[in-house]
Parts: sequence; C-alpha cells; structure tokens
Amino acid sequence: MSNITPRPWLANAQMTRAVLESHKFVLQKKYGQNFLIEPRVLEDIVAAAGITEEDFVLEIGPGIGTMTQYLAANARQVTAVEIDRMLIPILEDTLQGYHNVEVIHQDILKVDIGRLAEEKNQGNPIKVVANLPYYITTPIIMNLLERHVPVESITVMVQKEVADRMQSGPGSKDYGALSLAVQYFARPQIAAIVPPGCFMPQPKVDSAVVHLTRHEKPAVSVKDEDLLFRLIRASFNQRRKTLANGLKNSAELTFSKEQIEAAITGLEKPLTVRGETLTLEEFAALADELSGIS
Ligand code: SAM
Repeated sequence: MSNITPRPWLANAQMTRAVLESHKFVLQKKYGQNFLIEPRVLEDIVAAAGITEEDFVLEIGPGIGTMTQYLAANARQVTAVEIDRMLIPILEDTLQGYHNVEVIHQDILKVDIGRLAEEKNQGNPIKVVANLPYYITTPIIMNLLERHVPVESITVMVQKEVADRMQSGPGSKDYGALSLAVQYFARPQIAAIVPPGCFMPQPKVDSAVVHLTRHEKPAVSVKDEDLLFRLIRASFNQRRKTLANGLKNSAELTFSKEQIEAAITGLEKPLTVRGETLTLEEFAALADELSGIS
C-alpha cells in the first residue's frame, strides 16, 4: 500500500461523465446534486478554507468525491457525510488510494458534530467545507452555527444571492434573518463568484464561495439568545409591516402590545419603525428590554 496521496483527477466534465455512466448513476434532483467540474474553483475553495496538513475537515455532501480528492490531498484527515446511498459505491471507487478519508452515509442534520470533533480532532474546533445542496443551505449553516458545535470556519458554495444575504446590513434589500444570524456568530467573506458552467448539471443561477470565520464570542452580548432569534424571525416574517406588528403577530412570542411598544420606545425608536432598519446591536438591546417579561 502506498502512502502517497494520489493527485485529484476527477474535476473535469469528461471524468465526471465517465464515472456517472460507468456506475449508471441517476442524478437526484431532490438532493441538490450539481457536481463541480472546474479545478480552479476547487483550488479556490481549498485556499479560502485555509486547509493545511494539520487540519481535520468535515465535508458535507461529497457527491462523487470531486472536492473530497482536493481536501484529502491538502488536509490531515477528511470525514465526508453523504445522504445518497447510491453514491457510496462510487465514492469507494473514486477515493481509492486516499487513505485519510472516511465516508459516512448519513443526513448531515443528524450527525453529532461535537462527537466527531472529539473523536477526530481531540475536541478542537473543526473546519467545514462543502458545495452545499441548495435546498437545505440555511438549515445546514444555522445548525452548524446555532448549536454551539466546535467549528472554526465554514467554507461553502451557496447560491450567490444567499451569499449576498449573509453579508448585507440594514437598509439593503438582502438584509434579513440569515444576515443577522450569520453575523452574530461569524464573519462572512465572499471568496469567489462561480458561474453555472463550473457544475454538472448546471444550476440556473450564479453561485459563490463564502468563508465564515466563527467569532470566539458572539458579535453582541445578549441576556437571552433564544429570545433574540425569535425576535429576529418575527421581524422579518412580515417584511412590509412595522416591527411592532411583526412582534405582535408572531406565534413564537407572547408579549402584549403595551410591552412591545414600551420596548421599542426604550430603544428610542418611533413606533412605526420597521424591523429591517435595526442593526444586530439594536435587536440585542430590544431582546434585553423584553427579557424577563413573560
Ligand atoms: N461535493 C460534490 C461536488 O462539489 O461535486 C457534490 C456537491 S452537490 C451540490 C451536494 C451533495 O450533497 C450531493 O452529493 C447530495 O447528495 C448531498 N446531500 C444532499 N443533502 C444532504 C444531506 N442532508 N446530508 C448529506 N449530504 C447531502
């Protein structure tokens, strides 16, 4: 058995087509399968993630193993979690010779990432890298951020529009619950814009590689984090409504009209203020005004 990791060989349209055909693989639209076929993009992802040979990397959705090959060639160890059973034999084939890779057949939302970090990285924060399935981008990212799992950074391919939302601030049309949640936990940076032609099959829209560096402590301090997120969700559920109406109409909140109005006035905002104009700091102050009130 050789100890030399093979060079990545799968990242092009010809090889991808050949592997899919030889395994008679049928693409599953429901799993968001768009495989990368452009080496430069894969190099950009590895560079944006800052992968070194010391790192343990969790890859979400390896597909046929294209990015896994790049990660394995650069990291100490890689665990790749794939939901589609039909891809497991393909990965056994394409990852032959990559001895630092383990493939787990599982839904990433069901994986105990804390335990994985414990077992594979001595409990230290891990790097997560993925060309994400677009149908569950937000749940996957929020799951990694909100659950306080040991994650150092998340480098992911997402729809460009989603990357824009992560980065935007008050006043922008892209500003919303995802912007606030991501910026509370991490610093987002767009590392590359990726056109549809870099994938097989091609998605309908542009994509972007976004690198999220987790803050050591959340960006603002707040007494009740759970309340902060309920307030944020309530404010953006009804975009064109005032903040006061959004909070009053939310099924997740039970504050009276008077309590809500007193809290908004406490922020020195008019009662007609809209949620999308508030900064993260102001949402945290609002949560502190309302915390402890049932
Ligand atoms: N990494 C490969 C690449 O870049 O070519 C494939 C990326 S493809 C956009 C997304 C992959 O995630 C698919 O292989 C899909 O089957 C897998 N996937 C979808 N939902 C998943 C889930 N809940 N847990 C784990 N993998 C999932």
